[in-house]
Amino acid sequence: MLTVSNAVKKLILQARPVAADRRRAGIESIDIQQALGRVLATDIKSSIDVPPANNSGMDGYAFCAADAIAAKFQLKVSQRIPTGTVPDSLEPSTAARIFTGAEIPAGADTVAIQENCKEVDGVVKIDRAVSEGANVRAKGQDIEAGQVIIEEGTRLRAQEMGLIASVGMPTVEVFKSLKVAIFSTGDELIEPGMPLHAGQIYNSNRATLVGLVQSLGMIPVDLGVVPDRQEATQHVLKKAAARADVIISAGGGSVGEEDHVKKAVDQVGSVDFWKVAIKPGKPLAFGHVGKTPFIGLPGNPASVFTTFMILARPFLMACQCSPMRELRSIKATAMFDKAPEKREVYLRARLSDEGVEIYPNQSSGVLSSACWGDAFVVQKSGESIAAGDQVDVLPYTLY
Ligand code: AMP
Ligand code: MG
Repeated sequence: MLTVSNAVKKLILQARPVAADRRRAGIESIDIQQALGRVLATDIKSSIDVPPANNSGMDGYAFCAADAIAAKFQLKVSQRIPTGTVPDSLEPSTAARIFTGAEIPAGADTVAIQENCKEVDGVVKIDRAVSEGANVRAKGQDIEAGQVIIEEGTRLRAQEMGLIASVGMPTVEVFKSLKVAIFSTGDELIEPGMPLHAGQIYNSNRATLVGLVQSLGMIPVDLGVVPDRQEATQHVLKKAAARADVIISAGGGSVGEEDHVKKAVDQVGSVDFWKVAIKPGKPLAFGHVGKTPFIGLPGNPASVFTTFMILARPFLMACQCSPMRELRSIKATAMFDKAPEKREVYLRARLSDEGVEIYPNQSSGVLSSACWGDAFVVQKSGESIAAGDQVDVLPYTLY
């Protein structure tokens, strides 16, 4: 059996950065407002300082500290500086009324907050406790002109969108979104909205997979559900290979006589069967249909969620030219006991002030386990967990 970390390494080695292969053709320029979850195709360099000038961090009075000491902290107010205006140089031995974000006038080096000042008849009395340089936000303190602010391969979150906007860029070059074909298999599956007949269950993996792909900023190519039949499975695989950069299936991947996925991929391409020491989700199929990589996930809903997050996600991000950092777990205090297992277990869990709890039913068929909390507890193979132990926690949002 492959360890989880070796399986991830092996997958990443097989990843062809699809967007990079297509280089120029694989890059598009998009509005910064549309860039959530997209991956930068170039470094972003700032042409300006941010902020572009020294400005006030507070509402108050700006002055020169040395002048204030000489004048026993009583200064004539010589100008008023609201935001968006260009101040005059400060007259020596005076103060300027100033507001948060307004530019500090030349000649001033300190701002006293208005709560510590008293202005009477055009003269301000300043509390002596103010220290030189207080409340001045220096030009370029966030970003200096010429600085690379975000590197190629970064997947943009809201804060990066804001940072790019802060240097005045309206558009960004990003890699085209990976198209990920997804399909579910199983004669028992029926779509939500249809009446449920005996012997049927609703297809949940379809929605889970669409959401997971979207949450990575990629485009799901939803091929719905495929019946447990050879020809139908081969047909959908060919369709998927023609339309998408990567194919992901759920279910039908074991070696039972009703499991057609492996056989079908063998017929139209090539496939390996990996036994990964992960729970939930041991069997993982990996192969190609033509040049299009194929990942066959297990069918149980909690296994789909787990194996996608732990195994498929790093592969997809590598294909999208945004290699994931090694998943770095955080430590938390276990609030539960857990017997050892042969495989590495990804327990669906919830963080709280006291530590981390796990959902009571960790069955691979129980999708509620993934919705209840916000993280996996990683239980190493062969290790038991006792309440009070420090355990490894991987937040779902990590990346
Ligand atoms: P399989 O891997 O096809 O043997 O499926 C394993 C288990 O997961 C079975 O109980 C299936 O009914 C269930 N399952 C498979 N696909 C789905 C799906 N798309 N939605 C919900 N449950 C599924
Ligand atoms: Mg099945």
